[in-house]
Amino acid sequence: MIGKILRRLIFIVIIALFIAIVSLLVSTQITGTNQFEVIRTAVEHVINPKTEGTAKEVKPIEVEYTDNSLLTLQNSATFTLKTKTELKPSENTKYEFFLSQKPNQDNPFYWYVVKVNNIGVGDFNQKIRLEDVNTAAGDINISGSRQAFNLPFGLSEIGDWENFSYTADGDSLLALVDKQNKLPLDYAPKNLVDVNKDLLLYTNSSEPILITTEAGDALRLMAKDAQTQLSKNLVIASGYRSYNDQYKTYASWVRQLGQEEADKVSARPGFSEHQLGTVVDFVDEETGFDLTNDFENGALGRWLIDNAYKYGYVQSYPTNKETETGYLHEAWHWRYVGIENAKQHKESGLTLNQWLNQKRSS
Ligand SMILES: [Zn+2]
Repeated sequence: MIGKILRRLIFIVIIALFIAIVSLLVSTQITGTNQFEVIRTAVEHVINPKTEGTAKEVKPIEVEYTDNSLLTLQNSATFTLKTKTELKPSENTKYEFFLSQKPNQDNPFYWYVVKVNNIGVGDFNQKIRLEDVNTAAGDINISGSRQAFNLPFGLSEIGDWENFSYTADGDSLLALVDKQNKLPLDYAPKNLVDVNKDLLLYTNSSEPILITTEAGDALRLMAKDAQTQLSKNLVIASGYRSYNDQYKTYASWVRQLGQEEADKVSARPGFSEHQLGTVVDFVDEETGFDLTNDFENGALGRWLIDNAYKYGYVQSYPTNKETETGYLHEAWHWRYVGIENAKQHKESGLTLNQWLNQKRSS
């Protein structure tokens, strides 16, 4: 009789434990906080209540980041954060830290890209806890909003390429942006000028086309010399594109071609060189102002292949280099890297992304 009651009791205890564990797991999923960790800390505190009193003195952490509110179209948002010391990885699943570059002679900072996850449509505020590998700590607050955006049928989110790294310093002329290297959402170049209004160059877009002042000055000189030598005008069809503009551009390609084909001709958001503000797409009258590889069979296209490097411009997606660059040939797409870099790149015989990779690791 007693044995029967005992067995029942054990059975009830097992069921109760099972229910407790399942609810903790569910709650961990929903809230994003590890409930087991919360319990462990609480138990630890009861066993050893002095832990807090004996904690090391915590210094405030030194950080730099731009506190502009993030506007995102997807369920995550990324921004650049610079710290004087190395950060511990985030223990919170709501945000992650990705180290982009370590300090060197020219830069005293660790550059991180912080990714805020699980953002719902509407406004958001996220407190981010920073702790470094020494004893500094602190919180920063990030706010922003997510706009509703309808993706093409069958796509719930635009995913990243596998095994990519973040490029935090988009201001560098040597910033590497390809299918393995991604700019954060908040990266936007400073000092942008209007190619048509400020530089007085020909464009064929109803929207203003923007480019950085440095790349723009070189572009103006190049277009002027091409005009003098050939009596033909380079026409600019596209320039700077923000992360969110690229998101929309890529989505519209997927809508037209499906994702597999779209990936050959359009970059996913963050993976586009156009976000750097140092890139232009050219068209000309001879080829009906279309983005076409026929462009390089005409006088202007041939002239660029022979001369663009003298002005600091490089072709990012040359012919027959799809495996290396990840994209089909684009005769119209040119990027400014500075005259010295463009010369070195030309001598190397490598694709731009290969050369930048080599340059970074040397
Ligand atoms: Zn382009």
